Amino acid sequence: MTAPTPRDLPPVHALLDSPALACLIEPLGRTAVADAARGAIDGARRALLRGEPAELGADALAGRAAERLRSARPGLRPVLNASGVLLHTGLGRAPLAAEAVEAVAAVSRGYSNLEFDLEGGTRGRRSTSVESLIRAITGAEAAAVVNNNAGATVLALRALAAGREVVVSRGQLIEIGGSFRLPEIFEVSGARLKEVGTTNRTRLSDYERAIGPETAALLRVHPSNYRVVGFTESVGIAELSDLAHRHGIAAIDDIGSGALGPGLPPSVDGEPTVAEGIAGGADLILCSGDKLLGGPQCGLLLGSAAAVKRVETDPLMRALRVDKMTLAALEATLRLAIDPALGCRKIPLWAFLSATLDALKGRAEALAAALRDDPGLSADVVESTAFLGGGSLPAEPIPTAAVRVVGPFPAAHPSEGAWSRALRTGDPPVVPRLQGGAVLFDLRALPAGDDARLLDAIRRSCGGPSA
Ligand SMILES: *Cc1c(COP(=O)(O)O)cnc(C)c1O
Repeated sequence: MTAPTPRDLPPVHALLDSPALACLIEPLGRTAVADAARGAIDGARRALLRGEPAELGADALAGRAAERLRSARPGLRPVLNASGVLLHTGLGRAPLAAEAVEAVAAVSRGYSNLEFDLEGGTRGRRSTSVESLIRAITGAEAAAVVNNNAGATVLALRALAAGREVVVSRGQLIEIGGSFRLPEIFEVSGARLKEVGTTNRTRLSDYERAIGPETAALLRVHPSNYRVVGFTESVGIAELSDLAHRHGIAAIDDIGSGALGPGLPPSVDGEPTVAEGIAGGADLILCSGDKLLGGPQCGLLLGSAAAVKRVETDPLMRALRVDKMTLAALEATLRLAIDPALGCRKIPLWAFLSATLDALKGRAEALAAALRDDPGLSADVVESTAFLGGGSLPAEPIPTAAVRVVGPFPAAHPSEGAWSRALRTGDPPVVPRLQGGAVLFDLRALPAGDDARLLDAIRRSCGGPSA
């Protein structure tokens, strides 16, 4: 019997026809599957040429290619955010602290006391673990956690006001990206929207006149993503709560961004905070977990024990409740947030916000120098503007430093569009900012520890189309 030679290897189409690979063509695409098949055949060829034994059967080689495809990069994967948008909804909003990630891993690997009182051996409450932290940081008596702030809003309106009226200023009937429109949220909740005031000015007397036997609550909504400037007037949460309580109804404050208190996080002065809403007497404060808090996607309903109890006993709570992974990440994030200095070191969003412009410039200089050196790009450092984004203060500019490449762009991708596509489809993907014909790599939302990975990814993007 003669030894097998590369001529005995099966053709690519034989592997594609085998069951192991045939079922992957539709979900992963013919090109990726054919590449993997070719890779498996090449591997066997190299083994034969080295005089080593190799698989020759189409099915065996297809099995090997399928294994590689399965362990290959997933559809949802990490991205280097060089866009300068800190809370980019498309890029998953707030990155989690390492402590939060570890907490998620620890509770999800096995069982946990999610709803189990270890001391009494009886059924417990899901949010107990985060409630005491929230109380310590913000003064809120009680807390419920749901899927996101849109869910929190529907739930709050339903639990406190289904079938009755809720008064809202016309200046606060907002739309937040991704089809969160307040009038539609009202429709879903079963509460009736009663608009008062005008787009630019709403006074306490407007609210007062609207209160009648059908009124269940007054709602303030933070117009997160736009500003009314000039001849404006709105009512603060303390005044609004006072008015509500004089009429025996509830005050709800949707602050959106989730700043916990002054300096939590730093550098976002002027944002409404949970602590301020609690001190102002609001019955319920609603906010997101993955905006300024810098934690996992969730919605927080914080306030009086009585209001939170009504929320928790509403049947909709069951549909919106969060899982153990979210609660673990939230608790770990709050443990860091309770100490502002620790929060700024450990919560990525807080670290991004507190990084000095000089520090960003220093990192950008090093990166630009490396890119000029190899692959020889015309890179310099510019001061620019980063944004918070994510439906929270997108208009609030944050000074930042970026590496700017004005072209000529890499020969393999000669336009800014072609090169940014190569960057986005690389591994890891890089999302830069395109500005005035230049490609900018903004360092405000990039962890300092990722500079080397960014440099590496940019270098690789400069190669051929398949680099
Ligand atoms: C962002 C935001 C929401 C929606 O929050 P999600 O957590 O994205 O569902 C609702 N209200 C306000 C005021 C917001 O800023």
